[in-house]
Amino acid sequence: FALMDRLDRAPGQFRNFQKDDFEADWIKVAKCKSGEVYQVKVKLWRENCALKTFDTTLCGNNFYRWELKEVSSIAKLKFKYIIPIYGMCSEVTALVMEYMSNGSLNNLLASHSLMWPKKFQMIHETSLGMNFLHSMKPPLLHLNLKTSNILVDDHLHIKISDFGLIHWEEGMNKTLFMERLAARGNISYIPPETFTHSPDPPGTTFDVYSFGIVMWEILTQQKPYAGCSVTTVLLQVSQGKRPCVTMIPDQRPPECEQMISIMKQCWDDDHRKRPPFSDFVKQTEALSEVFKVPGPIHTLHPFKSWLTKASNRDINIRLSCIMQISFYLTDGQYDKEAILSML
Ligand code: ATP
Ligand code: MG
Repeated sequence: FALMDRLDRAPGQFRNFQKDDFEADWIKVAKCKSGEVYQVKVKLWRENCALKTFDTTLCGNNFYRWELKEVSSIAKLKFKYIIPIYGMCSEVTALVMEYMSNGSLNNLLASHSLMWPKKFQMIHETSLGMNFLHSMKPPLLHLNLKTSNILVDDHLHIKISDFGLIHWEEGMNKTLFMERLAARGNISYIPPETFTHSPDPPGTTFDVYSFGIVMWEILTQQKPYAGCSVTTVLLQVSQGKRPCVTMIPDQRPPECEQMISIMKQCWDDDHRKRPPFSDFVKQTEALSEVFKVPGPIHTLHPFKSWLTKASNRDINIRLSCIMQISFYLTDGQYDKEAILSML
């Protein structure tokens, strides 16, 4: 680190931040198994960043990559749907990255009811981010794709985070690898072949499986296998069971059937049958475009039911509808003027 330039002298480079580069008030955003996430303000930039600390006593056990060479190489990756990493702060063993004001998709799905256009768009953006990582040579495996690693910005667009931090090493014990993933609360996202003792290292189809589960979570806004123990999930998934497709709301656009078909292929038992992201990004693109057709009907359609409910006599229902509408007003996809004129 001594060789690395200070913040103000190395524009656009991977940096080693000092604690003193941030304002003193750090806001804790989340605490998790491997450390904590803070919102911090970089003094020189006057801009918020996220600082993800790693508990060094756990780092080895968590098999997180935590070496300058590795972290600085993943930080070089730039793409619209993956989180920009600005550097690290070795004083507190932390990664410094873009701060995403709307937190994780995991939290958003639990707190806001999303409409189909937004759900389709989020699925498509995630597939674009994953397609980018897998299009590298060799492909960059995420191995930790889950809704808490899909972050949401001011305008409700997503960026994938924490990619490339988990790695598989030649000769690694697969059971141990799986146990450690499960200990992180990731059991739902682990493909069944990982539970077996076959020596194959995980490949791109590992992430495709996790993506299938993420799709289900976006379409249903539920948590997979809710209330089941790790052992039950493990057993059921090994026997070919998957999250319940009937939990996807019946009132859905016809295009949803294609999304469901992609989702089922992604979580196929046979990993060779799971399509690569490059095979279905065109399809998710077309599906998310369906709702983008300009014109009064498409720009307003999702709001009609909310507008009807907004006149309900129950103040709580009225308030929740107004909150929903204002939530969508912040999204660039819709015609704000037209919505406002109807309120
Ligand atoms: P894992 O360590 O396996 O990725 P995790 O995603 O649950 O587990 P963290 O990555 O530490 O744990 O993130 C915890 C939470 O912190 C996220 O769910 C999200 O709400 C928040 N968070 C993480 N990174 C950012 C960020 N860049 N901007 C805003 N909030 C963030
Ligand atoms: Mg994370």
